[in-house]
Amino acid sequence: METLPFGQPSIVSRIFRDKRVLRDSYLPPTLPGRESQIEEFEALLSPLHYNEPITHILFVGKTGTGKTAVVKQILARKEAEFKNSFIRFEYINCSRANTAYRVFYKLNRIFGILVPPSGLPFDVLYDRFFEALSRSKIRLVVILDEIDIPSRRGNRLLYSLSRINSELDEETTSLTVVGIANTVNFLDRLDERARSSFNPSVIYFPPYNADELKAILLQRARLGLRDGTWEEGAINYIAAKIARESGDARRAIDVLRMAAEIAEKENSIKLTVDHAKKAIDAVNEQELGLAIRSLPLHHRFVLLAIAKLLASGDERPGTGKIYRSYLTITRMNMAEPLTMRRVSGIINELTSQGLIETKMSYGGAYGNTKVVTSMIVSPKRALKLLGSIALR
Ligand code: ADP
Ligand code: MG
Repeated sequence: METLPFGQPSIVSRIFRDKRVLRDSYLPPTLPGRESQIEEFEALLSPLHYNEPITHILFVGKTGTGKTAVVKQILARKEAEFKNSFIRFEYINCSRANTAYRVFYKLNRIFGILVPPSGLPFDVLYDRFFEALSRSKIRLVVILDEIDIPSRRGNRLLYSLSRINSELDEETTSLTVVGIANTVNFLDRLDERARSSFNPSVIYFPPYNADELKAILLQRARLGLRDGTWEEGAINYIAAKIARESGDARRAIDVLRMAAEIAEKENSIKLTVDHAKKAIDAVNEQELGLAIRSLPLHHRFVLLAIAKLLASGDERPGTGKIYRSYLTITRMNMAEPLTMRRVSGIINELTSQGLIETKMSYGGAYGNTKVVTSMIVSPKRALKLLGSIALR
């Protein structure tokens, strides 16, 4: 008997060899499909070996494209290589340290300077850090993961960090920023001042294609599942499906884990394509459930209107029809309806969140209109989910 982290004993699994391998926190030994990004990154870091400063760097790519995994893997390697030297790496996740103040709080701590977690003027934190760094004669590489999260203050953070370099003695001391952003147009959204002082070498992380996802999933299956308990066809199915919809490795791995759990629950001796299909539905349903909980009320009404129309057999409801159904729903819930224009905007937001799919329909009875073609789960399931959590 092994004990799971949440304290329940579990019978040794028939399918899983090591479930941790299929969790998000697991860092695999190699990162298939990211060879060229790793090579580029190492080349940009290589001047450090000659004690020379390096340029600022930016990783960009959608979520689940391996940015955090690449940086963690290379950091582990470099930290070992540069042990006992004047090179220092500091990884900061900006979704936790989500203000410039908090980031500088952490940077001060590198030098053992403790400042209060809030309340001081930013300039004081900045000056203390700057003095300590200039005296230290180290080359500091600061990795700012999820840098798009402190978006409004991101400009100040990047500006103040990246310009420090020009005030240091570059013979001995430097500060390099490695930013990691999930928004592909991150640089365009920075203000001019921040952009020109940051001015990074950009490494792009494209969504994974089916072959790459297959390699990623095969690695997890071989390490995490027992031999002979999974069909390669199931892996191919997941890889192809996720490549088509997002190219997100996290989702692909989630689906594989879910498929193995379903196979196990069904007491099946093998994980098959059928389990993979069920797992995709289950993961989508989880995602929709989570999304609904964080949607504002009128977004839920619009989603409900769409689900109702699709479930009643209307295959491609357009914006006008959706709006009429939305009006009925708001009336029933005694809410003040938004304008057609706003609802149309909400339809776009739901689309970019991946909850629905739309397309333009040209030259129909109403001219050119946008129509909804599908939802992330079947409309019937969506109705059930919306009924259970949405409008309470
Ligand atoms: P991002 O930071 O771009 O959002 P992550 O690096 O967090 O993406 O990757 C998401 C998940 O997918 C993590 O569990 C990670 O280990 C895994 N992953 C991403 N790329 C690869 C890869 N090339 N090989 C193996 N696993 C990967
Ligand atoms: Mg990440």
